[in-house]
Order: sequence, then structure tokens, then C-alpha cells
Amino acid sequence: MSREVRVRFAPSPTGPLHIGGVRTALYNYLFAKKNKGHFILRIEDTDQNRYVKGAEEYIREALHWAGIHPDEGPDASGPFGPYRQSERKEHYEEYAERMIAEGTAYYAFDTPEDLEEMRDRMSKAGVPNPKYDHVSREYMKNSLTLPADEVKARLSNNDPYVIRIKVPRKEEVRLKDMIRGWVVVQSGQLDDKVLFKSDGMPTYHLANIVDDHLMKITHVIRGEEWLPSAPLHVLLYRYLGWEETMPEFAHLPLILKPDGKGKLSKRDGAKGGYPVFPLNWKDPESGETFTGYRESGYFPEAMVNILAMLGWNPGDNREVFSIDELIDTFSIEKVSKSGAKFDPEKARWYNQQHLRHKDDMELAHSFRPILREQGVDPEMEYIAAACALIKEKASFINEFWEMGSFFFKAPEEYDQKVIEKKWNAEALKFFVRLKENLYNLSHFTAEDIENTYKSTADNMGVKGGQYMQLFRVLVSGLSYGPAIFEMISLLGQKEIVQRLDAAIEQLQ
Ligand code: GLU
Repeated sequence: MSREVRVRFAPSPTGPLHIGGVRTALYNYLFAKKNKGHFILRIEDTDQNRYVKGAEEYIREALHWAGIHPDEGPDASGPFGPYRQSERKEHYEEYAERMIAEGTAYYAFDTPEDLEEMRDRMSKAGVPNPKYDHVSREYMKNSLTLPADEVKARLSNNDPYVIRIKVPRKEEVRLKDMIRGWVVVQSGQLDDKVLFKSDGMPTYHLANIVDDHLMKITHVIRGEEWLPSAPLHVLLYRYLGWEETMPEFAHLPLILKPDGKGKLSKRDGAKGGYPVFPLNWKDPESGETFTGYRESGYFPEAMVNILAMLGWNPGDNREVFSIDELIDTFSIEKVSKSGAKFDPEKARWYNQQHLRHKDDMELAHSFRPILREQGVDPEMEYIAAACALIKEKASFINEFWEMGSFFFKAPEEYDQKVIEKKWNAEALKFFVRLKENLYNLSHFTAEDIENTYKSTADNMGVKGGQYMQLFRVLVSGLSYGPAIFEMISLLGQKEIVQRLDAAIEQLQ
């Protein structure tokens, strides 16, 4: 039976989305689009204690900025809504009750003190990792140990309770992960997780499985940190009678620090000066601000490209992809099992690649406000032509002014190192002559300028390369920059002659 592909990104609004979360969303999105399926955004906000104000808006804005648009979700509606779990409360209880009726779940009335005491007792008895499980439940206050009439009395008394899954004592739970292959766990290692609380709220596990079922999810693609929960989820599908339509699982590798030692954290980003969030995030508790990709000047296409390559490869040596090319090329089979190291230098490189592919006029529109702030406002065509040259060397638009201000105003200073090393009486003679020859040119194309430079050097018996860097410094102030003859041609004959005059006068 082949079903229409339906995948979901199911974040809990407990804080900002870091790049690991965006990558999960992206892989789901790519998988959906590649398979002509649906990508659903579901907000998992049943844990009121961990709810952080503004987090859901942040998540939606971040996805929107990245161009990861849900087909169904709180914004987009759809036939299986609502898509926010806090608005779906009435859907969950019946399933917990059904499991109780069928003996695969039970009521537990233990107080926090009871639980504490159990853990203490078991620790003292040498149990390394005490939990509520097939052994300890025998000694706790639940509907398996208490007499039926006491259970009834407690329930009608409105005593607080939780509903726990009754994990079998000795059974093999198997699941086939699309990335990791078969994962086999002995049920004795699992604990009797809480599914539902008497405040009427399901826990993550129950709500997640019920919604994946009701929303007809076919593939669950999520972070590796959820792999330990997957066997429990398999049991839930079995106990709820939904095994036949159980989604396939794919658990994505961790994103690691640049040195590969441990998971990439927001602290690593703050320390190393690179973003790990898509957008700026102000921590509501500490008031601290963490920078985002957007605010650092990354293009959303570049961020998507960076994230796509963190844990996936196309199977050949291509690295630069648009989102449409990613949709064409993406496959879960090429996602790796091992953690992916985040490389901040490589991230800059991706932005540079995408910058080079940008249309010059589009860049001009982004650069113009910066120019106006600097008090210059030239023609758009001129800005675009300058952008075409600057982008060959820059990684971000916010570097354009520093690298290319000379396109818009004459330099006030000259790179001192180059002047000290290269400027002398010979150089003076050369540039006086070069200036005259340039002044006499009737065409001022890059080619004309280059030929003039070469013939001047030849006639004066100097090596072609000798004054090249100095030439650049005299007209731009900088020792590096775009292709020199193109840049000089764009600046124009009159301007170049003036600049050479000014430089000669100042340096003499
Ligand atoms: N709400 C979970 C999270 O915050 C969803 C995990 C899953 O995709 O099953 O990541």
C-alpha cells in the first residue's frame, strides 16, 4: 500500500530554534517536496511549565525567513487541524483511557515524595538508574497494586493521578530506522513513561503518537536525541492498534562543535563569534542576546545550503545548491549516521558562493541604504556595476562598504605598508607618465587600460608587475580588491586621472 507522503516538524516552543531544529525542519521539507508530499508544522505545547513566550512566533518567523513553508500548520490551516496541541486537548484522553481498559496502561497515584523515596531506596540497593518500571511498579501506589475499590474511590475523589504505559517485562522491541537500520531494545530497559496527567494534559509521548496517527504522518524525521524514545513509541503504536500505519523513522545525526567534541551549543556560537540561531534571540531569563544568521548578514539560501550539508551529501562533490536543487537531489539514504561538525569558516564560504550568484541589481538594492547612510547616492546602474566587482571578493553585503568605498569616493589615505615599500623617485616618474598616457586614451575599457599600463612599463624598462599593487593603492587606497583594470575602467577616465594627480601630489 503506498500512501501519500506526509511529514511533520513538531517543535516544542520552549525557546528559540537553533540550527539543529531548522535542519530537522529542512530535511522534512525537502523529503516532502521531493516525494510530492505534504510538510506539516505542528506546535507541541502541552508542557505548560516549559513554555517560553515568543518562542512559537520565533519558530514560525525563522522557517518563513529560511523559505521552509508548511503546507499545513497553525498559519496555513489544513484538514487535520488544529495544529497546536494545546488546542487539541480533547483528542488525547480517550486513547489513554482505551489503553487502561485494554490493560496496556494504568493509573498511578504516587506523590513526588513517593517517587523520591523509591529512587532513594533503589539507589541504596545498588540499582544504577532507578526508574518506574516493571520491577518498581509492584511497590508503588497504582491501579496494578491497589484494590479496585480504592482506585475507584481515589478517582471519584479527584485525587491527582497520572496514566502510565505498562511496558512488558521481557520483550524485544524492534524498529527499522531509515538511517540507522534495525534498532533493537529489550523492553526491560524502558520505564513506564507517563502518558497523561490528571490536569487533562497528555505528555509529549502520547500527544506525539496520537497526532502523528490522526494527521496521517508517514515518516518521522527528527533529531537523534529522540532515538531512545522510539521503542516506546513503537509500543504505543502497537497498543493503540495502529501498527499497520506506523510511520517510518529517520533519526538525524547530531550537529557537533567545530572541534567535534560534543553537541554544538549557543555558548559555542557566542564564544566563537558565529551564529547558531537563524534569527537573533534575546533570552527572556538572562536578557542576553544571541546573534542570528539573518542579522549577521547571511542569505537564507546560504543558511539552507549550510544546513543541508550538515549530515547529508549528494553522493558526488557538489556543494553549492539552491533549495530547488536540494529538493531534486535530497534523499534520506545519503544522510549519515555520525555527527556532523559545524565549521564556521565553511559557513562563510557558502554565503560567499551564494553572494556571487546574486543578481547585481538585486545586490545594488541591498547596498543602496548603506551607501546613503555614508552620504553617497549614485545611479543604480553604477552601484550594480560596482557590486559586480566587489562581490568577487566579499562574503557578505555588510562588507561591501569597507571593501568598496573607493568606488564612491576618492581615498583619503593610502595603504602605508605598500607606500613605504614601493613609492620612490622611479615610481613617481612611472605614474606621471602612466597618468598622461591614460589621459590621452580615447577608449577607457579594461583592455585599453591594461595595454596602456603594459606599454608604459615596456617603454620605461620596468617589469609589468612591479607597480601593479602600487597602482591599486593610488586609486583605491587599498592593497587588495577586485580585478584592477575592470575596477579602474568603472571608476572612469576623469576620476582616475584626478586620483593619480592627487596621489602624486600628496606623496611627493
Ligand atoms: N516536540 C518534540 C521536539 O521538541 C518533537 C520530537 C519529534 O519530532 O517527535 O523536538
